[in-house]
Amino acid sequence: MSRSAHPAGPRHADVLTEGHYSAPAADLNALDAKVWSRTVTRDADGALTVGGITVARLAEEFGTPAYFLDESDFRARCRAWADAFGPGADVFYAGKAFLSRAVVRWLKEEGLNLDVCSGGELTTALDAGMPAERIAFHGNNKTVAEIERAVEAGVGRIVLDSFQEIVRVAHIAQRHGVRQRVQIRVTVGVEAHTHEFIATAHEDQKFGIALADGQAAEAVRRALNLDGLELIGVHSHIGSQIFDMAGFEVSARRVVQLLAEIRDEHGVELPEIDLGGGLGIAYTSEDDPREPHEIAKALSDIVTRECESAKLRTPRISVEPGRAIVGPTAFTLYEVGTIKPLEGLRTYVSVDGGMSDNIRTALYDAEYSVALVSRTSDAEPMLVRVVGKHCESGDIVVKDAFLPADLAPGDLIAVPATGAYCRSMASNYNHALRPPVVAVRDGEARAIVRRETEEDLLSLDVG
Ligand SMILES: *Cc1c(COP(=O)(O)O)cnc(C)c1O
Repeated sequence: MSRSAHPAGPRHADVLTEGHYSAPAADLNALDAKVWSRTVTRDADGALTVGGITVARLAEEFGTPAYFLDESDFRARCRAWADAFGPGADVFYAGKAFLSRAVVRWLKEEGLNLDVCSGGELTTALDAGMPAERIAFHGNNKTVAEIERAVEAGVGRIVLDSFQEIVRVAHIAQRHGVRQRVQIRVTVGVEAHTHEFIATAHEDQKFGIALADGQAAEAVRRALNLDGLELIGVHSHIGSQIFDMAGFEVSARRVVQLLAEIRDEHGVELPEIDLGGGLGIAYTSEDDPREPHEIAKALSDIVTRECESAKLRTPRISVEPGRAIVGPTAFTLYEVGTIKPLEGLRTYVSVDGGMSDNIRTALYDAEYSVALVSRTSDAEPMLVRVVGKHCESGDIVVKDAFLPADLAPGDLIAVPATGAYCRSMASNYNHALRPPVVAVRDGEARAIVRRETEEDLLSLDVG
């Protein structure tokens, strides 16, 4: 749809009911609790505060752009997941969403386990004191050096992703004189995206070993025959930003079917299944995520039911939320630099960051919301596109949103729900300095990942 086809111009509220924009919130100053972390509120002067500190003070101390992470919210979400699943199940936080030493310590203190998928993530986890037995190692192409490292450290499980890896891990474990606990990652023919899932007959993806054609059964046969491996279960991860539990139900059913086949063929009942991560969060007011206790109940009901009908002992369930824990806990704070109204189209608002601190909009067409946070305003809503300062026209942070028409350079705006896959995917494009992650809690703020400096950039440049 051509934006210029809107007869009334972008500042007119009628535009909003057409196309895919949502209508502007009746009050642009209101903060939707769904997309902001728990301690976020506005103070008497209208400035946004998190953990009791105003954004003006945070910007002054830490600069912009910066990610501000609500530590008590992070910890509360960890506890909500751990409580929902209870002592009979395991919650693994997916470190790729965002990992730092402080995060590892919080996870450890709140009783969660940790998924890593590279040597760098493993190093961070071990360095910050996560016990190795609480770490799971993932990835479709772990290097021999990474596997060695994981086996030596004694990680609780390695999730095997290919036939080559079954042999590789077995050999390395044998060389170290250990039996490595492993799961096999299977692809169950379900792909889930947000509000729907697709059952695919053909498994056209790089991860896992297909249930179809008996591939997964063959992988199990091989793993059971290797001395270096202790096969503890089967793993399935079906996608990300999922709201619809139906995909998990199909996945759980197929995984339990495989356990029954393994029992029939080998006489062993594998003790664990892992149903992966992928649970969705609210990026905008339109998103309606499930609470951890609803997810736990839905998953445990389906697994129990399927096991009863297959006459299997119910295996221990594990899950791997990444985004659902850290995503909602942080926002990115930017300063507005330039404002360009394009007559009949929209207004471009440029901020001091962009695709280097949030690649998700460019990469996945992700939708975000945005708010003016250094003050409130009673001005009319104006349709904006929030863009960065990089040399790409696709450098978009928020594609369509409304901000007050009196927005001015120097105002602070914030994009909520940027805790997951923003800092962890950040780049140095245009030699941007990657922003800090600042943990805020009970009136105190401290950088847990500091801002990069030009010296950091130059120190890598050794030519
Ligand atoms: C990415 C990933 C996760 C976490 O996904 P979220 O969408 O962040 O919950 C969990 N498990 C595996 C195997 C993954 O690849």
